[in-house]
Parts: sequence; C-alpha cells; structure tokens
Amino acid sequence: MNSPFEMTKEEMTSYGYKIVDQIVNHFTEVEHKKPVKKASRKEMDTIFLSEAPDEATSADDVLDFVMKNVMPNSIIISHPKSFSFVPGPSNFISAMSDSLATGFNIFSGGWNIAPAAAELEIVTLNWILKIFNFPVENGGGIFTSGGSMANLTALTTARRVKCGEDFSKSIIYLSDQAHSSNIKAIRVLGFKKEQIRIIPTDIEFRISINKLKNEIARDRLKGNEPFCIIATAGTTNTGTVDPLDTLADICEKENLWFHIDGAYGAAAMLSKKGNLALKGIERADSLTVDPHKWFFQPYEIGCLIVKDKSWLSGTFSEKPEYLRDIEGNESEINFYDYGIQLTRRFRALKFYMSIKTYGLNAFKKAVTYNIDLAEETEDLLRKSSNWEIVSQATLAIINFRYNPIHLELPEDKLDKLNQEISSRMIDSREALLVTTILQNQVVIRMCLINPNTTIQHIKDTLNECSNFATEILEEWK
Ligand SMILES: *Cc1c(COP(=O)(O)O)cnc(C)c1O
Repeated sequence: MNSPFEMTKEEMTSYGYKIVDQIVNHFTEVEHKKPVKKASRKEMDTIFLSEAPDEATSADDVLDFVMKNVMPNSIIISHPKSFSFVPGPSNFISAMSDSLATGFNIFSGGWNIAPAAAELEIVTLNWILKIFNFPVENGGGIFTSGGSMANLTALTTARRVKCGEDFSKSIIYLSDQAHSSNIKAIRVLGFKKEQIRIIPTDIEFRISINKLKNEIARDRLKGNEPFCIIATAGTTNTGTVDPLDTLADICEKENLWFHIDGAYGAAAMLSKKGNLALKGIERADSLTVDPHKWFFQPYEIGCLIVKDKSWLSGTFSEKPEYLRDIEGNESEINFYDYGIQLTRRFRALKFYMSIKTYGLNAFKKAVTYNIDLAEETEDLLRKSSNWEIVSQATLAIINFRYNPIHLELPEDKLDKLNQEISSRMIDSREALLVTTILQNQVVIRMCLINPNTTIQHIKDTLNECSNFATEILEEWK
C-alpha cells in the first residue's frame, strides 16, 4: 500500500506554487487592505465549527476555503498602519526560509542529527553575542519560541546558579513596567508571591533605584536571600530602558544575577541612538532578545544569550539512556542540553538566511529609520495645539493624547475622549491604534518598528484621530 498521504509530483508542485503566490500577494498587497479585523466566537463558529471529516476533500478546495476564511480573519500585524502592541513586519526571505525548515522537517535538537542546523545556531548566536558585546568564547545562548520562553529559560538558569536546590528564601526584583512574562516565569518556577518584589518606577518609567536598594536592604535584614534583578531594556509600554549600569553595579556589589529583558528593545543596539540608550547591556548575566520583534523575523523565534554557556548546560542537561548514542564532544552542542525543548524546529535558518541575504546593514538602516520616525512623530505632535506627549519617543515607541490647549478638559473627560478616539479608529478598521495606561492616564500608543510605515501613514492616522475627536466633542455638547 502506498502512503495515504502520497501526492504526485505535479500535484505537489501546483499546490506549493499556489501557496507561494498567496504569500507573495500578502507581502505586495498588504497596504491595499485594512489592518483591523474583529470577529466574535459566534461568527467564527458559523464558518468553521464542524466534525473532523472521515473522507477526503480536494486540496484546492481546502486551500481556497482557508484563503477565504482563515487568513483574512486576523489583524494584519505587518500592515504599515498597525501601530499597536509590537508589530510583526517580518520579511520575505525569512518567511521562505521557515517554509524550507518545515519542508525538510529538520530536527534541531542534537548535533549528530543535524550538525549543520546546530552549527548555524552556534554561528548566528555568535553574531548576536557580538552585537551585544558578550564574550563569544565563553558566552552562548539558545533560540526559543519567543521572549517569554527566553525569560523562563534565563530565570531557571539564574535560580540554579544562584540558589541551588533550596530557593525558599530567595527574592527576585523587577519594576512595575517589567513585562508580564517575567512574573509568569517566576510563578512557573514555583516562587511564591511573597518572593517577588515589584519596584515602582520614576516619572520617566525607569525602575526607582532608591526603592530597589531599600527593598534589598530590608530583605537582608529580614533574613531573606536576594538573588536576581530583572531590568528591562525597552519596556513594552514606553520603550524605556532601566539604568543598566547602575543596576549592574548593584548586582555586582550584592552578588545578584543580572537578567535583562530586551525582548522589545535590545535590537535597538543596531542603531547609534539605541547603542547609547542601551549602555551597560553587556554587563548582564543573561539577556533576552526577541528576533520575531525588532529583528524583523516571522514568528516564532526568541533568543536568550548568557555570559557563560556552561550555565545553560549545567541547568538543562539530563542524560536519558536513549540519547547515549548521539552525545558528541563539548564543542558539538546539543541544543536540547541548553533549554527546555528536546524536539525543536530549525529557527536559526531564517535568521541566518535573512541576515546573509540582506546584510546586517539593512537591519541597521531599518532600526535607525524606526527610531528616527518616532522622533519625527514627536516633533509633529509637539507642534500641534491638540496633542500632548505623555511619554516621549523612546526606541520607536511614543505615547500621547488628544488634549486641546484651549479646552482645558478635566482628566476624566480626557480619558474618555482618548478611549473613544481609539475605539472609533478600530471600528473604522483603518489603523490598529489602541490605548494604554500611563500614570493613571489613558493614552494612545504607537510602536513604530515597521520599516514600511512612513510619516504620511502617521499624518493620515493623526488627522483621522482629530476628526474623530471633533466629532466626539460635538456629540458631547
Ligand atoms: C514581547 C515581550 C516579551 C514576551 O515575548 P514573546 O515573544 O511575546 O513571548 C517579554 N518581554 C518584553 C519586554 C516584551 O516586549
């Protein structure tokens, strides 16, 4: 019997080309579509809810159905007017490389199974180590599914190195602007709420050094054991970088693990301005980078780098007998020894192929452009009597609100107004623009890491917002 999954060469070629055509269309026609999509569970159920079919359907019919119903029912996160959350501009070379990795179904766990895949992971991680001025000789890292898994991998390592088996008195410190994935990771690791210190931030959204020092000192007096500080290099809300050098000094003095969560902002190292803003990043013990954000990679690829690669192997090596035959020598890394996953997809390939193809300078140019565009947006907003900057352009993120000077609206009205501007924008489907809360104010947030976003896209969106505002204020009269 032939495999029930067999197709002829002609069938496969025709089917494959159809998918490539669709992906190319997605890349070339994105701008003619509206970025926002919304659908209720009920609407989706109406289209999709069904039992698993026992009988076959033609491949083309299934593909047509998917292209009609699945792909369009999703926010276009690579659209130049997708300003919210962290956009995912991606790039074509990586999208194709990912298809290649999946097509060949390469197992990226052990050296002896796919030596070239392991080598490419080592090589691309070396590129990343170098970008962040980490030691290439002793340093190391691993690609993960994303920033959340990179943070979990880092904190598991920190706990093993600093606390050993008993972590019942260990305390970890992070700011109120740190990403929620860190708290998730800490909880997954079995720390109690009482072992987490959330340190307030100052007026610029940076961790308060005085309050942090107070907490560490108090914990020592109480007999607790401080073991780790998590700094953020580019908070998701505002792009703010915690004072990395000062925190590194504290960690050295207090013998604490220094983890930096750079999932959003670390890639700014590729630009001159970002390089200045991230001063001290090389002093981390562990650093989370998230290539599927600002390194323009498609999902999923996150990354953790550490100062000493033996910290990872020391934490994650377990030696089951059935892996005995594939153990190599130490320089031939089995990445299943460096993190949580055994079976891993070949994430390094897209990173490798896109950087080889476009060149690192293309990435530097894009990141520099993104940072400059946010600053240009800030200038634009400051010149208007209707807009107020709440958090200035920082690593391509800017927060602002509609607050016309002549009206002197009270705070509660301003919150309502800005919330409503965002809702109407979403309802129009023209731009993905949502709010966040900063210092108890509802503000509109733009994250401008898409190299296809132009100042004209921003001007059009702001004009649209102003029109909504006029409309709303009129209705309130
Ligand atoms: C996005 C983000 C994360 C989580 O990364 P995922 O790739 O979404 O898992 C962690 N920290 C920061 C600062 C982020 O911006």
